[in-house]
Amino acid sequence: VGVFVRPIEKINSVIETYPKGIAGFRRYTELLDTEPDIADRAGAVTASGLKGDIKYRGVSFGYGDGKPVLRDIDLTIRAGETIAFVGPSGAGKTTICSLLPRFYEVSAGRISIDGIDIRDMTLASLRGQIGIVQQDVFLFGGSIRENIAYGRLGASDDAIADAARRAQLDGMISGLPAGYDTIIGERGVKLSGGQKQRLAIARMFLKNPPILILDEATSALDTETEREIQKSLAELAEGRTTLVIAHRLATIRGADRIVVVSESGVVEQGSHSELIRAGGIYRRLHDAQHLVSSR
Ligand code: ADP
Ligand code: MG
Repeated sequence: VGVFVRPIEKINSVIETYPKGIAGFRRYTELLDTEPDIADRAGAVTASGLKGDIKYRGVSFGYGDGKPVLRDIDLTIRAGETIAFVGPSGAGKTTICSLLPRFYEVSAGRISIDGIDIRDMTLASLRGQIGIVQQDVFLFGGSIRENIAYGRLGASDDAIADAARRAQLDGMISGLPAGYDTIIGERGVKLSGGQKQRLAIARMFLKNPPILILDEATSALDTETEREIQKSLAELAEGRTTLVIAHRLATIRGADRIVVVSESGVVEQGSHSELIRAGGIYRRLHDAQHLVSSR
């Protein structure tokens, strides 16, 4: 395995310190499936009830400025598995995840879910099978009910309440002046960072996708709130194929598999204990982790 040649100094930290919101992700949450630049193939199938067996085969990608970001990536993610992507900022973790909902198209290779090339699925149905939670939660100035229902337009009040309960948002809602009808945003009640995260989680419980992408952030949440949110996210991830762009050691340790990404691509993968035993890059990052282990 000649991939461990990259000097360790190049990998500043296993945990990205300054996660950026992803333009594509944000666009996604704001516009749902309105995406003019990617057309469905003739005969594209409607993806529904996917198990979430994901395969990247020989995937290469660049953003069009000529600089290749991903080169010949192979990655197999089994249905129900939780994968934590770790590596330095700029390594390509977000890019790898952005290709799955086709915010960008691969330049070579293919990505399949349950054996079907994602380019052979309609874009809207593919994205209907993938939920995304990131730090930047898109809220609009409507009621809290409408904001949760954004996860699945047309959801019943019962389904909305159930999602809120599972995201442990119900206690907060019952404390609001008009409950679910309370207007939030600039003209209404301002939500805390933790409440916004819970709202995003409630949306995902409502959407109930088989595949989840969590762009975890070292957000401004206090430790206690963060621990609580982590619990809800773990519940949300239960039974789904989950790709986490991981910043927190607890997430990394708890993942079924850790994928270490560096500028040279996927350099190591395995469980925490496997990677520690292997004594490679992850081990060295881990041993140096006292520098950043406050998260
Ligand atoms: P990570 O998530 O590991 O920090 P990214 O996937 O965000 O890495 O970035 C990988 C590389 O692609 C970086 O060099 C970054 O500058 C570049 N990049 C990311 N997004 C874009 C974009 N929208 N346009 C051009 N380059 C980008
Ligand atoms: Mg990133």
